[in-house]
Amino acid sequence: MFDESDSAEQCTAVNDLLVEATIRPWVSTHDGLQPHLHFVPDSADVLSRVKAVTAGGLSFVLCWEGGTRLGRCMRSQCFRAYVDTSRNGRRRYCTARCGNTEAVMRHRSRHSRPKP
Ligand SMILES: [Zn+2]
Ligand SMILES: [Zn+2]
Repeated sequence: MFDESDSAEQCTAVNDLLVEATIRPWVSTHDGLQPHLHFVPDSADVLSRVKAVTAGGLSFVLCWEGGTRLGRCMRSQCFRAYVDTSRNGRRRYCTARCGNTEAVMRHRSRHSRPKP
């Protein structure tokens, strides 16, 4: 689903997950906690809860800053998706390590090939 760069397609993908994994969300204040959303009943099994929280969380990310915070690592051999929590929202790689690897590769290929 993270291949969908088109935001309408991203929405469809996340909506499909929501339909599959969640019930009508409800606000809970159990155990003296701040009000927060639950996406499945408390009686749900662990797998259902994980699916629901994942789908619910993705839907928030998708709606945050116009969906620009949900990205896919730019390194060609990496297929990880990430949520960009940086201040400027310009993240392009899943980790600093991927960014560095890519920078080294770009540097090498620039120096190994003669310029036309
Ligand atoms: Zn809770
Ligand atoms: Zn990566």
